[in-house]
Amino acid sequence: PVVTRFAPSPTGYLHIGGARTALFNWLYARGRGGKFLLRIEDTDRERSNPEATAAILQGMAWLGLDHDGEVVSQFEGADRHAAVARELLETGKAYKCFASQDEIAAFRDQAKASGKSTFYRSPWRDADAADHPDAPYVIRIKAPQDGTTVIRDEVQGDVTIRNDQLDDMILLRSDGTPVYMLAVVVDDHDMGVTHVIRGDDHLNNAARQMMIYEAMGWDVPVWAHIPLIHGADGKKLSKRHGALGAQEYQAMGYPAAGMRNYLARLGWSHGDDEFFTDAQARDWFNLDGIGKSPARFDTKKLENLCGQHIAISDDAALRNELQGYLAAADKPQLNDVQSNDLERAMYCLKDRAKTFPELLEKAHFILVSRPIEPDQKAAKALASVSDGILSELTPQLQNASWSRDDLEALLNEFAEAQDTKFGKLAGPLRAALAGRAVTPSVFDMMLILGRDETLARLTDVAG
Ligand code: GLU
Repeated sequence: PVVTRFAPSPTGYLHIGGARTALFNWLYARGRGGKFLLRIEDTDRERSNPEATAAILQGMAWLGLDHDGEVVSQFEGADRHAAVARELLETGKAYKCFASQDEIAAFRDQAKASGKSTFYRSPWRDADAADHPDAPYVIRIKAPQDGTTVIRDEVQGDVTIRNDQLDDMILLRSDGTPVYMLAVVVDDHDMGVTHVIRGDDHLNNAARQMMIYEAMGWDVPVWAHIPLIHGADGKKLSKRHGALGAQEYQAMGYPAAGMRNYLARLGWSHGDDEFFTDAQARDWFNLDGIGKSPARFDTKKLENLCGQHIAISDDAALRNELQGYLAAADKPQLNDVQSNDLERAMYCLKDRAKTFPELLEKAHFILVSRPIEPDQKAAKALASVSDGILSELTPQLQNASWSRDDLEALLNEFAEAQDTKFGKLAGPLRAALAGRAVTPSVFDMMLILGRDETLARLTDVAG
């Protein structure tokens, strides 16, 4: 069975690149009935903090990337990691190195001066450790000294590294703490991880991690190192390009489904498909579709996909997500009436809204209360209609049957009787009902507001 994992270092918010890595692993596992695990790589005690872990969990929750099992803390596995280092010592795959910092520095200076590799070659590799019973030591792995190491990568292909590029890296520090590289391998092995999908900034680590797998005789997972995300200008994504935190996108009002669709397409493709549902993404996602070159972040494309997802979303779910947006954006929550009206109106709000702020703009007519302050365009539309027309309309609405067809017929007849067209009246009616020029259709608004509120708003402006 497939087991993937996301292994963020808790040093800040969930970066958009991290969110994509998590999504790829999640899709890969979910599409194959596998497991998606979460491991917090908190071994760097100085840089790790619980707030960052909380932010990462929140970002994943927003994106709907649910993980299986408990959240694993890498730091808590330190004893197990150290035990593996000692096991390698016993099997002769690693050794105690008693060299002091000064000795290592002197070795490097000399190597540099004579133009040789500055990789430290410890004299303890082939020495008898019993020579030095009580002195402090580190445990180093015995790196292969000749030949090559091949990393089979599902994205990059076979990556060959000359073994003289590998040094006897430290596994266990002199204070008994394991190094990060050891922790990753032991955790991935112990967690049963079968597929590691991560940024290609970890490709170099893979060669070093491979040494540990081989020394332990463990199966190497399938590796897929994905190119990083670039900005529209082709440079590595940075603050300059705009928001980097996944949750900043929530606060800007992008729906999670649109974000998932967009992030899935960021560096992965399935033919010409741009828009797809979660179910399709799970069915289609594979490692073959991951591109070798960095994908460029494109806000237009993101918005376009978000619009399409809003349009097909379930009304109640959309209303709930909108409430999540309001909270994330630190905006006032809707009251019960507004929230109800919003759900009832959703059918006419959700097409052509690319973000929640756009949707709310269209919903202005149900969120605003009388007297309605028209914006500039609406005020202009109201001024364009000759005096008295709206006050002639109100009595007719008083007894009208309040259905779409009847209202449409009534308003068209009314316009005709006024020697005009309904199109000419629509602007002023929008302005009266919403105080805005861009709104859902006049009929949708009348049906959602109901007769009393519609008449009250018309009377407010008709005088
Ligand atoms: N903790 C690493 C990071 O945040 C990921 C390591 C891995 O996926 O192997 O970049």
